[in-house]
Amino acid sequence: MRPSRSLLLGTLCAFPLGALAAGAGTPNGLHLGWLDRSADPAKDFFTFANGGWQEQNPIPPAYSRWGTFSVLVKQNQEVIRGILEDAAQDTRARAGSDRRKVGDFYASGMDEAAIDAAGAEPLRPELERIGAIQGLADLRREVAHLQQLGVGALFDFGQMQDFKDSAKVIGAAFQGGLGLPDRDYYLRDDPKFRQVREAYLAHVAAMLELLGDAPATAAAEARTVMDIETRLARASMPRVDQRKPENVYHPMDLKALEGVTPGFSWSGYFADVGHPEIERINLAMPEFFKAMNADLSAVPLEAWRTYLRWHLAHAFAPYLSRPFVEESFRLTRVLTGAQELLPRWQRVVAAEDAALGFAVGKLYVAKKFPPSSRKAVLRILHGIRDALRADLATLAWMSPATRKAALEKLDLMGERIGYPDRWRDYSALRVDRGPYVRNVMRANAFLQRRELAKIGKPVDRDEWSMTPQTVNAYYDPSMNNINFPAGILQPPFFDPKAPAAVNDGAIGFVMGHEMTHGFDDQGARFDGHGNLLPEPGWWTAADFAKFKAATDCISDHFSRYTVDGDLHVQGKLVTGEATADLGGLTLAWRAFQASPAPRREKAAGGFTPAQQFFLGAAHVWATNIRPEEARRLVTIDPHPPAVYRVNGTVANMPAFQEAFHVPAGSPMINADRCVIW
Ligand SMILES: [Zn+2]
Repeated sequence: MRPSRSLLLGTLCAFPLGALAAGAGTPNGLHLGWLDRSADPAKDFFTFANGGWQEQNPIPPAYSRWGTFSVLVKQNQEVIRGILEDAAQDTRARAGSDRRKVGDFYASGMDEAAIDAAGAEPLRPELERIGAIQGLADLRREVAHLQQLGVGALFDFGQMQDFKDSAKVIGAAFQGGLGLPDRDYYLRDDPKFRQVREAYLAHVAAMLELLGDAPATAAAEARTVMDIETRLARASMPRVDQRKPENVYHPMDLKALEGVTPGFSWSGYFADVGHPEIERINLAMPEFFKAMNADLSAVPLEAWRTYLRWHLAHAFAPYLSRPFVEESFRLTRVLTGAQELLPRWQRVVAAEDAALGFAVGKLYVAKKFPPSSRKAVLRILHGIRDALRADLATLAWMSPATRKAALEKLDLMGERIGYPDRWRDYSALRVDRGPYVRNVMRANAFLQRRELAKIGKPVDRDEWSMTPQTVNAYYDPSMNNINFPAGILQPPFFDPKAPAAVNDGAIGFVMGHEMTHGFDDQGARFDGHGNLLPEPGWWTAADFAKFKAATDCISDHFSRYTVDGDLHVQGKLVTGEATADLGGLTLAWRAFQASPAPRREKAAGGFTPAQQFFLGAAHVWATNIRPEEARRLVTIDPHPPAVYRVNGTVANMPAFQEAFHVPAGSPMINADRCVIW
């Protein structure tokens, strides 16, 4: 299922998915068992801090990476499993209640016998609709219909806060329609990407065979799909270019829209999605839609029908019978290196999290997050906020005018901890005991209707983009707020039993990171009210140039790192996240330094408080990853690989180098040091 598309620039703000393990016993949450004492912290701090953990925590076969984040996600899933099983067995739950819905959804997903017996049957009405497409208007209507069900057909349509008027919600159309993770997978002439393309062709053919096509036909159809998707990939804007907000902001009225795509009627499309009143949207990537317009008439209808059948199967195979599930996993395996399927219960919990996440979250919070936790976490957050305020107030290079605007932005920054004040209303969503895949389709359609209903309405400032059980955090530039779901406010990120220095380094890192997003290379372009301003925005031109030099320094620094042997980190793709890491850990350090003496004076486990602080920060990123997944993430993820989130960050921090007595010339010192605060 696709995430809400409300956050343009998808992962702009999110901390990565990533997970912790049973802390091999240590004094009070310092996790000495995670260390690799044969590694030299002055040469490779990540391995010194996490090498023991890596050794003791091989990647489980069903995972492509395994780390502190994944361990917590799994723990949360176990809690949620209990909640869902209880609900599924509660035959007295009121019809239409959230409890009944989460129980029915879970029961439908766990009913493997019924799912296997149904085969592809639940897709039949959709396949018939696709088969009935007779012209371009039919094609447009069917694309709109499939998108509502959650199929990634041709492009994506959703809503966003208007970049230039954050009080308004507008419709937005983005490039899409690919079955592989990124344009690079279609276009890069590199043996590993070529291998993926071979496997993809075989996979598409196998999927079409499962829908009933003869092998030779299916093989030819797979080439048709590859041809269409390669056209779309060629027209797609590279991720690095999407990071500049202006590049993906092209508000247009109907006349302008139909100028870009004369063969595709947007007024017709808006009516198809149930919103004929829409008159103006952000056509985020005009070049993509121009090419789509040409392809619509250049590619025969028969080929489009094949393309849509493939995307229908691609979207829903994980919720169908065993042959579909296994074939779907074959592609996952190629892309991520995972060796086996997750157990069914875990797959259903994940699907339900996407479908009914806030109904599940309400039950989760009642069990796992007492109101008192909010208070403890706010204390640390406010220490960091004070540190940022103090920095902005005194930064030597910043002029008074910029300083005033920066402080104003910080003062306007909202903060939210744990879970929303108002819970989502699922009363319009129908859930029953099966077929499972139809529950998934109805949930997707419900979520999409909910998104589109926001267009033209005032912004709902209480809404969260992440469910409470999510092990992650985010900054939203259009809202100018930082958000920390209950799911991440647990050990090892925040451990009431750990020394203060460890918590200040761990959850402090996460909090400083999100706050810094308000001032990274993208965040800095938006004012305190969430409006995008023309460069240099609220900065003076001279200050903006200095700030840009600082973030360029970070791009250059991270471009020097590689994964899977030879694939370079895309410095320009990770600039924002790497900036948030460096700014964030620096702020957490300052907050730690400013905390009362007893908090920062106690040695533990043979480590000074300063060393404990950096160990806490590094432990956040304890991770093992498969090479396929490393390659996929370096291609699409704006976050640097875990090892560099640690080593690349501390290499720019003299406080670290002092704490661990790092000698000049060490790889843990970036000779051209980058400075944010
Ligand atoms: Zn981030």
